[in-house]
Amino acid sequence: MFLTGKTAIVTGSTSGIGLAYARALAAAGASVVLNGFGDADAIEAIRVELAATSGAAALYDPADMREPDQIAALVERAMAETGGCDIVVSNAGIQHVAPVDQFPVDKWDAILAINLTSVFHMMRAAIPHMRAKGWGRIISTASAHSLVASPNKAAYVAAKHGLAGLTKTVALEVAQCGITVNCVSPGYVWTPLVENQIPDTMTARGLTRDQVIADVLLAAQPTKQFVTPEQVAAFGLFLCRDEAAAITGANLTMDGGWTAA
Ligand code: NAD
Repeated sequence: MFLTGKTAIVTGSTSGIGLAYARALAAAGASVVLNGFGDADAIEAIRVELAATSGAAALYDPADMREPDQIAALVERAMAETGGCDIVVSNAGIQHVAPVDQFPVDKWDAILAINLTSVFHMMRAAIPHMRAKGWGRIISTASAHSLVASPNKAAYVAAKHGLAGLTKTVALEVAQCGITVNCVSPGYVWTPLVENQIPDTMTARGLTRDQVIADVLLAAQPTKQFVTPEQVAAFGLFLCRDEAAAITGANLTMDGGWTAA
């Protein structure tokens, strides 16, 4: 329970990797602010589960990561209702698969807004509070696609490369304030985001569903296994420890060897 008394905001925590982060942070004692879309009853059940796990407050805030005003309001609500904004896990993300000359402009705009620009707005809103306390942890979910490309993912690859650069830059700016800024870059994790891109990948590459899973997704990773949401969250949780205070400005891969290969 090393995070007792601290508050963690996790964007995009109604499913997948973000939900695993929310559970891991609550199990370490943090008050957790849930965010993302989904079924209201299911989200409320998660919120109740988190509060029971942590013994602390758990909130749900539906801020849309495309909306800067809602992001700022989310941070202020965490401050008002839990007294802190100590850990920010910027994790919300979407994906779209299409060749660049057929890439819908609205999809490009949404991917850049949610996967990259929202992180900038979270940092703007949260860093003054962290600086005032002399302690903070900013962790973003980037991707192996912050380091390597795949065809038909122009917006996603551009956003994740940008996120790695944003992370390094801001880490330097707050290096003497007790705040670390890192991103964790998973390989493929079996979540709705990956499942939903399979049909478009089948179309773009002329493959069957099984071929996409075996020859595109698992083929990228020398381990031939999906990374799990719990593995990503456990890795991120370590970054919240005082023992991790020297880790900043890093893009930490956990990709089954993908980027090594
Ligand atoms: P997911 O689809 O399970 O979760 C995405 C979350 O983001 C959901 O909670 C969703 O409601 C939320 N979200 C989407 N649009 C939002 C918006 N406008 N405002 C607020 N929340 C919004 O997917 P996931 O795989 O768990 O993805 C989480 C992060 O991990 C993303 O940033 C993704 O790019 C990254 N990632 C995923 C993989 C993978 O293979 N699944 C690999 C590397 C990186």
